[in-house]
Parts: sequence; C-alpha cells; structure tokens
Amino acid sequence: MIFRQLFDEETWTYTYLIADDKTREAIIIDPVNTQIEFYIRLLNEHKFRLKYSLETHVHADHVTAGGLLRQRAGAETAVSELCGAECADIQIQDGEVFRFGGNEQINVIATPGHTPGSTSFLWRDRLFTGDSLFIDGCGRSDFQGGDPEALYDSITQRLFTLPDDTLVYPGHDYNGHWVSNVAQERKTNSRLAGRSREEFIDIMNGLDLPAPKLIEQSVPANRSCGLPDGERHDAITRSSNIETGEYHQDTVSAAVGVTTQSLVNQAKANIIEVDVTTAKQRVSAGNYVILDVREPSEYEAGALPAAVNVPRGTLEFKLPTTGEFADKSASILVYCRTGGRAALAARSMQQLGYSNVQSLAGGYEAWTKE
Ligand code: FE
Repeated sequence: MIFRQLFDEETWTYTYLIADDKTREAIIIDPVNTQIEFYIRLLNEHKFRLKYSLETHVHADHVTAGGLLRQRAGAETAVSELCGAECADIQIQDGEVFRFGGNEQINVIATPGHTPGSTSFLWRDRLFTGDSLFIDGCGRSDFQGGDPEALYDSITQRLFTLPDDTLVYPGHDYNGHWVSNVAQERKTNSRLAGRSREEFIDIMNGLDLPAPKLIEQSVPANRSCGLPDGERHDAITRSSNIETGEYHQDTVSAAVGVTTQSLVNQAKANIIEVDVTTAKQRVSAGNYVILDVREPSEYEAGALPAAVNVPRGTLEFKLPTTGEFADKSASILVYCRTGGRAALAARSMQQLGYSNVQSLAGGYEAWTKE
C-alpha cells in the first residue's frame, strides 16, 4: 500500500492519499483546491485511479478540490449527509464502509461537534480525524452548528475507545506535529486529558476565536464541492439532475451512502408543497416572501416576481443575515428549477426554526409552463 500525508502550507491542512499498489486504486481525504495540479501529477505519475474523494466535513478555512477531482480524475465525492452539500455524489452515513483496492476498507465514524456533519475515517490502524481531534487539541465548536457537548462525546466515546496504538492523523496542525496515537491523545491532549465533560465545554465556550479568514467563501464553495462560480457546470448538472434523480439512480445507487434523491424524498415527506395554481393566487394576493434557491445564473435568466436569491448551498449560512427572512414566522414560498433543491431547502429552514415554509411543486419550470 502507498500512503502519503500531504500538507497545504497556506491553510495548514493535511490531505491524505491512500493507494493500493496492485490495483492502482486510490482514495484521497480532504484535498485542497489550490493543490489540484499537484494531485493530478501525483495520480498520473503513479498511474493511480482515484475512486473516492472523501471530506471529513464542510471546511471553513479552505476550499476542497473534491469537485475538481471528480471532473479531472473521475473520483466520486463523498461528504456526510448532515453537511448540506448535495453536490456530493455520496451522502455519507455513520457506519458505512468505502471499499477500494481489492480488500481495503475505510470505516466511517460520525464524530459530530466541530460541525454536525463532521466525520472521521478509519483505515487499518490509521484514523483520520479531520477537525474533530487534533494533536494536543481539537477543532473549535463555535460556528457552523458546532456543539462542544457533542464534540466531547464524539472524542471520548468514539475515538478514544479505539485501540491505544491507532494512529491519529488530524485535518490540521499548527505546531509541526504530523501524527499521534489514541493513547497519547487520551493521556496528554490538553483539552481532554484529566478533564470532565463540563470542564471541556467551559474551555470550548471560552475560546473566543476570530472567524476564519476564508469562511465567507469557503463554506458556500465547499457545499458546491469547491467548484468556483464560473465553473460549476458539473455541480449544476448534477444538482439539476438530482431533481430528476437520473444521475444518482443510474450511477451511484450501488455505492455506499444514501443518494441525494432519497434525501429529497425524505425532505418532501416532511414539508408542505403547494401546486402552481394555489401558489399563483397567494403570490398575487401578496401572501408570500419568495425565496429562489437556484444558482445566480439560473435566477438571472428568469425568476418569480420579487423573489430573493439565496442559493441552496449558501442557505444556512446566508439566511440569518438576509433581511427579508428575519421573520421566521412569515409565509415563505421557496422554489428551485423542478422542486428538489427547494424541498431540501424547506426542510433545512424548518430545522432553522422557520415555521411557515412552503415549497413550490414542480419549481420554476412548472410555474412558467402553467
Ligand atoms: Fe473545519
């Protein structure tokens, strides 16, 4: 087997490449977009076929190369279903197994806390912890839905219960460390060793850190698999296709993970959809605040009257600061192209506390047809 620990100096991010030297099948964990040419060179040089590009979470401090690796190396992208990144081919769930290179497997361990969708990956005796556990530290829990209580439980109940000599490979390091192991972190990690749950929570709540420099760009970009605005063709095609289910049903349903289409179906079971006729009556009566969750290019090509554009990938992040949506009890009509993204958005908004969100059945296509 071939194992490489790669470092992005700009963002202090570790990326991991694991490859099977017989089948040449490879996987990568947490790739950084600015390193794409280096990854492609590395893959070509060694004749590796990249099967999966895995994310430990939606990052706030760098942009993923996942979408680029899908376009240029044919990798399937995967991130937790709790990350709101529907562009990913695979929506990861706890306990799943990614197989590659004959008999190799990567086990998924959900470790929420840094973000709700934070995930650790276990390959053989190596644990890739993302920002859930650092060497002598851990990721912050004060934004992006972070939760210090969940983080404590994830670390102590899911990671520290692995065998002592399991190697710990973090998502970042700022102090020149490369690797640790479970016993060492359990015994010496200054945030955790000898501390109660309450002490840990107090420490985390008192960190008072500035927001990461790149958060405004990184979080929305990473929800689109890291493809910048002008180059989102692949992500848009795929997210358009999620509304028909074609892409995912044809090519991904055999893989691990729930498909985006099944997330859409789950969301639709929990929200209210209105048909176009009813929606048109209510819109002309002025009963709605209207939210368009499509990409800006789709919105600019034509939209419902007075609709406000907040793309699905930026929703949880942008909505709290968008004045039109300050009143969480207002009647909101949310729509996309054909209804898939809007269903997911409506479900997310319910979870954010919006009490009266309706999704337009059939989306903008149905609206313009009728
Ligand atoms: Fe992070």
